[in-house]
Amino acid sequence: MEELVAAMGQPRFRGRQIFHWVHGRLETDPNRMSNLPKALIGQVVERCRIAKAESAHELVSADGKTRKRLLRLPDGQSVEAVLIESPFPGHEVDRYTVCVSSQVGCALGCSFCVTGQVGFVRQLTPGEIVEQVYGFERLLRQADGERGGASRRFVTNVVFMGMGEPLANYEAVLAAIRILLHPEGFALGARRITISTAGIVPSIERLAEEGLPLGLAISLHAPTDQLRDRLMPINRRYPIASVLKAAAHYSEQTGRRVTYEYSLIQGVNDSVTHARQLARLLAGQLCHVNLIPLNLSLDPSLRPASADQTATFRRTLEETHIPCTIRESRGQDILAACGQLRYTADKSA
Ligand code: SF4
Repeated sequence: MEELVAAMGQPRFRGRQIFHWVHGRLETDPNRMSNLPKALIGQVVERCRIAKAESAHELVSADGKTRKRLLRLPDGQSVEAVLIESPFPGHEVDRYTVCVSSQVGCALGCSFCVTGQVGFVRQLTPGEIVEQVYGFERLLRQADGERGGASRRFVTNVVFMGMGEPLANYEAVLAAIRILLHPEGFALGARRITISTAGIVPSIERLAEEGLPLGLAISLHAPTDQLRDRLMPINRRYPIASVLKAAAHYSEQTGRRVTYEYSLIQGVNDSVTHARQLARLLAGQLCHVNLIPLNLSLDPSLRPASADQTATFRRTLEETHIPCTIRESRGQDILAACGQLRYTADKSA
């Protein structure tokens, strides 16, 4: 922004002011940037476009806590972003988590994931990523204004768990994160942002050197290479041992505990034997296992594990001192849960 205004013959601090308007106050109309000189506003209007994602479709879950938006991008493509409201233990405010997409479609083709079955279309830009967060933040601020409350930032957490593999769009995702973290902009804390990856090993290693204590979640879903090869083709390139080694390095560098995501699929990866294999793999790692009831899949042979099997799997892990939770799957009534985004996008298109 400083370079942009310098090229317009303006002092560099004006760039910081514009940055704060766009990324802190989320203003999209330069004419409302009241501390800028009129001449600069004219130049900004003439030379810049402050994009605002158009919400083409919106669904709210029956409990009102999950809201999904289909966002239309300038080239006609669409992605989905989800806002999830939940209690925030130890805080006076609720937790508002935005689940963002990082790509249109995904090239990795995981067998249980609807997005993966559609294939890769294109990368999202940093602007298209942050705008998914800003759109929901504007909505929350507006609702707060209508209630007469004090203006503040509402979104507390951002997770890269929507469409796409974030570490396959590394540059744009990191640029978006640095914008979200900027103290003169949206000012999120790095610990409030989580990247979920299928396990792109070189990118995990690179992320470990960024000096950012971001949350890292690895979609594991299988305790053996043989099974994981079948569920997640990326495993043939980066087998489990290499992913775990990169994750352990990430933990060492950042001090963050890595989360392993494990979707329980009936008769495929949900037995006590699988749980014991998983416990052996993760023994000694600074980690946490998130057991996820499988969501809707295009493959009818992939069904969620039963509640009993899920509880047994959890107990087996806990007996071996692997910290573990069963993730409450939010927003299933609006197909907003993981792996379902593109499916709805296609149906809505
Ligand atoms: S689970 Fe993630 S990495 Fe795998 S196909 Fe779906 S979006 Fe891509």
